[in-house]
Amino acid sequence: TAPRTGSVEPFEVRPSSNPRTVAEREAMLAALGFGVDFTDHMARATWTPADGWHERRVEAYAPLLLDPAAAVLHYAQEIFEGMKAYAHPDGSVWTFRPEANAARFARSALRLALPVLSQEDFLESIRALVNVDAEWVPTTPGSSLYLRPFMFASESFLGVRAAQRVDYLVIASPVGPYFPSGIKPVSIWLTRDIKRAAPGGTGDAKCGGNYAASLLPQAQASEKGFDQILFTDSTDSHLEELGGMNVFVIGKDGTASTPRLTGSILEGVTRSSIITLLSERGFDVQERDIPVEELIEGVRSGEVTEVFACGTAAVVTPIGRLAGEGFDLTVGEGEAGETTQWVYQTLTDIQYGRAEDTHGWLTRL
Ligand code: PMP
Repeated sequence: TAPRTGSVEPFEVRPSSNPRTVAEREAMLAALGFGVDFTDHMARATWTPADGWHERRVEAYAPLLLDPAAAVLHYAQEIFEGMKAYAHPDGSVWTFRPEANAARFARSALRLALPVLSQEDFLESIRALVNVDAEWVPTTPGSSLYLRPFMFASESFLGVRAAQRVDYLVIASPVGPYFPSGIKPVSIWLTRDIKRAAPGGTGDAKCGGNYAASLLPQAQASEKGFDQILFTDSTDSHLEELGGMNVFVIGKDGTASTPRLTGSILEGVTRSSIITLLSERGFDVQERDIPVEELIEGVRSGEVTEVFACGTAAVVTPIGRLAGEGFDLTVGEGEAGETTQWVYQTLTDIQYGRAEDTHGWLTRL
């Protein structure tokens, strides 16, 4: 059978003949947005059944040449990851739990009938790119180099079957702090009519289609004046997650609850890390079904003191207002609560090398 994985071979570096000047780069690094500017290079590899992963290169960041019949454009056979590289005070550059992203990428690949890229190759592609573009890792407080590995069906063929040619790329974007002036609460609309995922679907895979499906309810909530949406499960009984973040509910009784992994929510690396940190802090952490009515009643009665969302991009996002059809509530004081702030501080202290990495979560690039 065709090789589905490849051994670790280096990514050949072909430096860009047209990199940005130091002045151009510094101007970009001085005005950071999120995912708008990209570094000078990208990593790439191509997979075919005959050759496995080959054409591994780090080369100039450039538009792709795609055949209009490329399968990804028609059937969305595509997956991606999101992670960050952090500059430490001594100038070294680190990433956070990349083996967890590699494992999730492999699970997403299997679900989308894409070839698996080994954990070693995944890490090697990131290391190769970040080493070439090391000058692009921002050093201003709270900033990082956002890394976006992705894989898609590039075979030109309109039949509906797993593609026989697949491309893998990593691009990188210097990003500023998500909350430049301290963590700021967001308002959430509980979306109950439109579903993000269902049992047996692709909810636990990081595939582009899941995000396309979340855009309409997100736009509807934005029109009502809300920042983000929270999805419920396919039976509309329990909480699931936001469009791009997991959710935690903190109780007055010392519980920290987060929806269990049912197969229809994405297993966040941040979620998993927060479960560990809160358990160590003495919280009664519960991965379980959280009934929608329990959340609404808990926020109303004050039994629920904090609700926050979490993910790589923002780390944690306090939810200050929770509304849906027939209710509109302030969570706690409507501000970032004590636990939310503690989680943010603890996790970012580890990521930026200000605290000891006692869990072995960091990998040097
Ligand atoms: N849920 C969804 C749907 C997401 O897109 C993300 C972002 N990857 C998360 C949760 C959070 O995952 P992580 O903590 O790994 O960034």
